[in-house]
Amino acid sequence: MPINEWYLNITELPAFEKSTIDYLDGLKPHKAKQWDLQTNQMKAYKTSLLEQLLKIQDNRCVYCGTGLMRQLVDREHFAHKDQKGGWPEFMFITENLFAACGYCNRMLKGIKPMVKRYNKNYSDCEFHLIHPYFDIPTKEIVFVSRGGSDAIFVEHITPKGEETIAFFELDSTIATARRAGYITEIAIYNQLSADNAAEVKAISHYRPA
Ligand SMILES: [Zn+2]
Repeated sequence: MPINEWYLNITELPAFEKSTIDYLDGLKPHKAKQWDLQTNQMKAYKTSLLEQLLKIQDNRCVYCGTGLMRQLVDREHFAHKDQKGGWPEFMFITENLFAACGYCNRMLKGIKPMVKRYNKNYSDCEFHLIHPYFDIPTKEIVFVSRGGSDAIFVEHITPKGEETIAFFELDSTIATARRAGYITEIAIYNQLSADNAAEVKAISHYRPA
C-alpha cells in the first residue's frame, strides 16, 4: 500500500479578491521587506493566505506531511524571498506559497538555493527539489508498507526525489517517527467509536473535518 502522507501534492491554489491582487501589483517591483508591511491590506492578505493554505493542505506541513495544529506554522516561500540571493520577485506568486512546519522551513530549508534554472516566469523555472504544485511527489518517490510489518520501504525514487529526501531529512529517525505516528493516528481514529474519536480529535495532530 503506497504511503502518501510524506510530501503533499498541491492541486488547488488560494484565490484572492481583485482589490488584493491590485494592491500587491501596485507594490511592484517587489522587495523582500514588503512582506512585513504593516498595512491593513497586507495583514488581510497574509491572514487569508494562511487560512486558505491550511484548508487546501488539510492542516499538514507541505514537506513532511505532519499535522500543523500544535506546531509553528510558517507561510513558506518555496523559492525564498530574501533580497540578497533570493527571489523577491516571486514573493506573491501563489504557486510559490505553502504552509510548512517551523522545523522544515526554518531548521532545514532556511535560505538555501532552490532555483536550479532561472526564468522570469515562475512556472518556467527549474527547481532542485520536488515542487509541491508543479511536480507529482508520488512520481518522484514511492513509499510502501508491506502487510504484517511496520517497516516502510522505498519502492521507486528519482534523482529529484533522492535530493528532496536528503534535504528534508525525510528518512531520519525523527521524521520517520513523526510520520509514522501521524499515519497511526489516522488509522486508529478511523476505527474509533464517535465518543472516543471526539476525545482523540481534541488532543491529536490529526484534525479530520
Ligand atoms: Zn514539516
